[in-house]
Amino acid sequence: MTAPDVPAASGCHGGRETMQEAARAAGKGGAMAKLMADYPRGPHDQPQSMCPAFGSLRVGLRMRRVSTILSGSACCVYGLTFTSHFYGARRSVGYVPFNSETLVTGKLFEDIREAVHQTARPDECDAVVVINLCVPTASGVPLDLLPKQINGVRIIGIDVPGFGVPTHAEAKDVLAGAMLRYARLEAEAGPVARPRGAVSDEPGVALIGELFPADPPGVGALLAPMGLRLAPGLPAREWRDLYGALDCVAAAAVHPFYTATVREFRAAGRPVVASGPVGVDGTAAWLDAVGRAAGVPADAAKAKALPAIRAALEANPIRARVTVSGYEGSELLVARLLVEAGAEVPYVGTACPRTEWSDPDREWLLARGTHVQYRASLEQDMAAMREAKPDLALGTTPLVQAAKEMGVPALYFTNMVSARPLFGPAGAASLAGIVAAQTKGRERFARMVGFFEGVGTSEGAGYGFTGKPVEPPGFRDRQRKLRAMRAKAAEAVGS
Ligand code: SF4
Repeated sequence: MTAPDVPAASGCHGGRETMQEAARAAGKGGAMAKLMADYPRGPHDQPQSMCPAFGSLRVGLRMRRVSTILSGSACCVYGLTFTSHFYGARRSVGYVPFNSETLVTGKLFEDIREAVHQTARPDECDAVVVINLCVPTASGVPLDLLPKQINGVRIIGIDVPGFGVPTHAEAKDVLAGAMLRYARLEAEAGPVARPRGAVSDEPGVALIGELFPADPPGVGALLAPMGLRLAPGLPAREWRDLYGALDCVAAAAVHPFYTATVREFRAAGRPVVASGPVGVDGTAAWLDAVGRAAGVPADAAKAKALPAIRAALEANPIRARVTVSGYEGSELLVARLLVEAGAEVPYVGTACPRTEWSDPDREWLLARGTHVQYRASLEQDMAAMREAKPDLALGTTPLVQAAKEMGVPALYFTNMVSARPLFGPAGAASLAGIVAAQTKGRERFARMVGFFEGVGTSEGAGYGFTGKPVEPPGFRDRQRKLRAMRAKAAEAVGS
């Protein structure tokens, strides 16, 4: 097996088209077509968040008895392992290094196979995940030729290149979907392990999405009056939970970008419900949808949940204009909750694509005058914030930084909003609380902007100068002439 040449300037900055072309030429046409269909492109060429593969890496690292091996450039692997340990992974990540020779001759694949055999010890793990990053994907390293299992340990090989998966959110789906598919085929072939702990006879609902830990029990409480329980969710925390999730009566795509995962639930004959239980309207509609999917009435659940949510919203009213942007996939749900609490939300942008599972939220928001931008670029989020002049901007790190420079209070979506409950009465109380606390700071921000006016910008950058630096006389002119002479000389040599 030999691999075609991968462009020298490969990776995040190498040019998406060139890398895709290389991957196709190296025999990855099928894998690329699937990624393109599952994760349609947006307005920007390259991911504007962290390396997308982090999503897959994180899903594997959060599972019990699952080992993960990365195959990619050392700089990518350094960044990914650094980030995973920053986010608390207490586990080693395997790495199969390569050089141009092992890549071109196909030896890299042999090295990966050897690493997988060494790692697949049944006393230690249920599954080994191998993730092809950009360069091995573009070079056609064929992870599908790895054995499907070694001594009972499942082997899952996936391609997660930055030029094929736009966000780290969708990369979670690449691995979650691949695992669910494996588990579904196992369950179809014969008996599988029971979930850990006591198993209830009540029909279960499986939530799809990486949620704040307090949210699943909260949703379980919402479902209880309908005679439904919470099934294990996706991404799973251990392998046997995948069977438990498939055993549900319905799945709920509360994070709406899990295209591959939803495909597996549907292949198992499970209906999939859109949106999530946020606010009064959202919770009522969601409980109705779950009830229809599960074939049970939702009246008792609504009678119990809705007054509590209404009371929490009334106790925490929001009187502010808020813009929302992020790459978590829950942006539309957050915007709905803000609107129900009384906020004006002129804009919500998400890096994730439009799918049918956020349609109810999109329609609800549009009806209330909110502009919904799927696959939003940072530039679109910034422009919306500048135009809307909000009292609070929820967004990504660069957006929050820009907002603070403008004197607009801002909150980092991932660390502040996603780190709180969102669903049911708990979500209603918690989100309103932080928004109220932050918007109070607006006047303080304005004072700070006035105080630091001009510091660190233009000729105020750096330190040690009290006045405007003076240009050496004639410097720019001389440089311009020099450049023109060099260009002329290069032209002469070129011809
Ligand atoms: S694997 Fe990630 S960090 Fe490495 S080149 Fe691809 S997108 Fe960039």
